[in-house]
Amino acid sequence: MPHIATTNPATGQVLKTFEAMSTEQLDGAIERTDLAYRQLRETTVDQRARWMNAAADLLDAERDEIARIMTTEMGKTYVAAQAEVTKCATAARFYADKAPAFLADEPADAAAVKAIQAFIRYQPIGVVLAVMPWNFPLWQVMRFAAPALMAGNTGLLKHASNVPQTALLLEDVFRRAGFPEGAFTAVLVGSEAVERILGDPRVRAATLTGSEPAGRSIAQIAGRELKKTVLELGGSDPFVVMPSADLDRAAEVATTARCQNNGQSCIAAKRFIVHTDVFDAFAEKFAANMAALRVGDPMDPNTDVGPLASERGRDEVHAQVRDAVDNGATVLCGGELPTGDGWFYPPSVVTDLTPQMRMWAEEVFGPVAGLFRVSSYEEAIEVANGTSFGLGSNAWTRDPAEQERFATDLDAGNVFINGMTTSYPELPFGGVKNSGYGRELSALGMREFCNTKTVWVG
Ligand code: NDP
Repeated sequence: MPHIATTNPATGQVLKTFEAMSTEQLDGAIERTDLAYRQLRETTVDQRARWMNAAADLLDAERDEIARIMTTEMGKTYVAAQAEVTKCATAARFYADKAPAFLADEPADAAAVKAIQAFIRYQPIGVVLAVMPWNFPLWQVMRFAAPALMAGNTGLLKHASNVPQTALLLEDVFRRAGFPEGAFTAVLVGSEAVERILGDPRVRAATLTGSEPAGRSIAQIAGRELKKTVLELGGSDPFVVMPSADLDRAAEVATTARCQNNGQSCIAAKRFIVHTDVFDAFAEKFAANMAALRVGDPMDPNTDVGPLASERGRDEVHAQVRDAVDNGATVLCGGELPTGDGWFYPPSVVTDLTPQMRMWAEEVFGPVAGLFRVSSYEEAIEVANGTSFGLGSNAWTRDPAEQERFATDLDAGNVFINGMTTSYPELPFGGVKNSGYGRELSALGMREFCNTKTVWVG
């Protein structure tokens, strides 16, 4: 049986358990979501925008309570959880505002195709399954749900098994905002139920944010069923620091970029690749910043880094650090497993890494930075692109020519120069290589789950 439960990562205490849905209950949920699709696709985009704005208002009004549940379920700091709720409200308003333009008919050159009139029309496709992770339990879902619902699709959410209350809460927000019953349905099931859901003819497509194995499994099932998928998988983002960089600023942002969300973000900077001319100065500042972070109770507003979301996750992070140390790496700060309750891990910086060590190319899902020394631009690019991932990337340089080269040469779905990688509703978000495919956010994210229909009138 899947273990669907709220367990507080700060204490290890199981607070609430949930029974997984039976097959009949799951089929009923799919049926409701499909019926809701038939209703929603008949509504106007203005009507959907009113509901989406109402959802944003509910998120704002109930921010603190929602944030408290998120912190309790997965350990992010309460301050970060509050900011996440606000970000979700902003994205909901963005799509309410922009959807009429994103979905408007797009005229084509009629004469060139020998038509009186030719255009592209964007229409919904039906029920979309969203398999979502626990790390940004509201934001990851909202960045799917807001464009999907605005396009007239309905959503079936299979959330991670450790954030059931957050899942149910979002379902409730959309219902109270006025969307038809079933337009956004959370199903409490384990990952083994995904095959059945994707095999159902009423479910037209799937989106997943999560690990590579989960992505491969969903893509395999969807391939068999001939259904579209968008996959946002892991990353081991490079953060390159060149000699012309503002080192103080780079070391400050590096610390936030690595430890945001207690180090558990797909677009966290994970590998810090520093030019030898500034390596020692950067390493000193960065390690000092990391060591100064306050680790503790995520509800305390003075805490910078809370616990990792699960004991399994912490064991994995520590195993990666131990593997590096056992093979000759140097720990500049952290690296020791704390005693006491909760799944805390200290912000750590590890250097002298070699390709034989797991940390060289694996994703580390916790507040642990790998620090690499390089002696040229070319070597920086080689190390930066030298993993199977390609999600986000960062480069720090004040040289305009070098900025231009990084923008082209970094093999990633996004490149941020002199700033932290983050997601904005206005910009597409997604990866290349084993970080997945497809794009979320912006107009592109909305159109991933649209029928892009060619209309030709002679
Ligand atoms: P998972 O990929 O296991 O979980 C993410 C979601 O996928 C959950 O809803 C999970 O359900 C579901 N899932 C897991 N396996 C399958 C499967 N075979 N078929 C269908 N759905 C599946 O991530 P974890 O929480 O286990 O984290 C492991 C690693 O994944 C992390 O260390 C990190 O590297 C990466 N990760 C990346 C994220 C990102 O933002 N890109 C987010 C989270 C994790 P259930 O909870 O019921 O197992």
